[in-house]
Amino acid sequence: MFEKNMELELLIEDMGVDGEGIGKSDGMPFFVKDAVVGDKVLVKITKMKKRYGYARLMRVIEPSPYRVQPRCAYYRQCGGCQIQAMDYAQQLRFKEKKVRDNLERIGGFPITDKAECKERGILFHPIIGMEEPFFYRNKAQFPIGTDKEGRIVTGFYAARSHQIIPNRKCYLGVDVNEKILDIVISFMEECHIRAYDEATGKGLVRHVLVRYGFTTKEIMVCLVINGRKLPHAEKLVERLRMLVGMTSITLNVNRRNTNVILGKEIICLWGQEYITDVIGGIQYQISPLSFYQVNPVQTERLYETALAYARLTGRETVWDLYCGIGTISLFLAQKAKHVYGVEVVEAAIADAERNAEQNGTDNITFLVGKAEEVLPQFYEEGQKNSVEAGEELMHTDVIVVDPPRKGCNQKCLDTILRMKPKRVVYVSCDSATLARDLKYLYEGGYELKEVQPVDMFPQSVHVESVCLLHRKDS
Ligand code: SAH
Repeated sequence: MFEKNMELELLIEDMGVDGEGIGKSDGMPFFVKDAVVGDKVLVKITKMKKRYGYARLMRVIEPSPYRVQPRCAYYRQCGGCQIQAMDYAQQLRFKEKKVRDNLERIGGFPITDKAECKERGILFHPIIGMEEPFFYRNKAQFPIGTDKEGRIVTGFYAARSHQIIPNRKCYLGVDVNEKILDIVISFMEECHIRAYDEATGKGLVRHVLVRYGFTTKEIMVCLVINGRKLPHAEKLVERLRMLVGMTSITLNVNRRNTNVILGKEIICLWGQEYITDVIGGIQYQISPLSFYQVNPVQTERLYETALAYARLTGRETVWDLYCGIGTISLFLAQKAKHVYGVEVVEAAIADAERNAEQNGTDNITFLVGKAEEVLPQFYEEGQKNSVEAGEELMHTDVIVVDPPRKGCNQKCLDTILRMKPKRVVYVSCDSATLARDLKYLYEGGYELKEVQPVDMFPQSVHVESVCLLHRKDS
């Protein structure tokens, strides 16, 4: 009875994991992008499946008490801020529920049943939100293109496309982004420098990458270009360096016809190749190619929680798997005997080693490779060597993991179970894979003790969590 293009009135009763509103008509659920829980809406069906359908929001008939006026005029087209139309307190409730639901449904942990939660000794803490949930990003990457009239434009790609919607002001980024874009675009116009065209592979300027050190106020501008030389670069440098805090102006060479934004080569135009930032008293040097968390305020809270969960006294041997540029490793090293950091990207390990040196830290060993390969290899060799030398077997007190969205590899989890650390601290950016992995560790002898969701990406549907697990027999 439901078919495409049919119009319906729905009351939005729930939100899906991607921030879509969910409302039912005659028992049939419909997913409606941009609808907010509590809204009464008019929608048009765009696609029908057997048990559910998709519909487009046509009109809000009665706004939800949680609906707010989005700050950004482009929020529906952009897709970066899926839930900007929802007030921040409700965003936080939505994310907390997402973590709770995943732990319960996928992980099998009794999170909503308070009595059982208490009996099992699981503490689920309220999500840590931000006082100012806008302008929090320290990194922005703007694509540069040409519009139909031949003018140079910058903005963001329309959701699931490579069409640039012109906009220089993103409410998640810092104010200086706009000034930098104005300078770059007017420089390109004056000097007749063309924007890169993905269709033909011609033109020069592809992206502008900006990074900002929240603590140090240092600014980095990196122009990604389809070549090795930027004509009249001195004119651009002259204007950019007038901005207070400008520290690094570079080119990144990317001549490949690909979606990947950055190439491998960096050419310094002015200043140094990196900026410095400080999180929790630790200094980090960040180059255009380094991975660095985008929300420094919440990152500090996230790492502090991870460090607190590790309960270090100075005698512990700790592993930090998926360590990136060693951010968590450096936090842990302040209170551990020794830290081993493992990361698959070689350049990140080079950054990690430099960061450790800069901070005068000498109790970390960084290892390059996949966690699921490095960890078992190191463990087995360590055991073998101890047996041969007639020494006590090597032991690990705490293992911290911070994997990408797909979670930990099973071989990595199996090795953790064999190494039997007293505590495992799991930092996760995807609560579904987190729940899957926690279930596996639970079955292997670990109890879930604490869960702390942290809002690292306000206005988006993403949520970070830190979890503490104890070995049952320790
Ligand atoms: N802990 C760091 C980085 C977390 S992001 C921080 O907070 O900054 C996850 C990291 O895991 C990335 O740096 C990615 O390169 C790395 N990674 C992905 N797959 C991996 C694997 N199989 N083994 C080790 N590291 C991996």
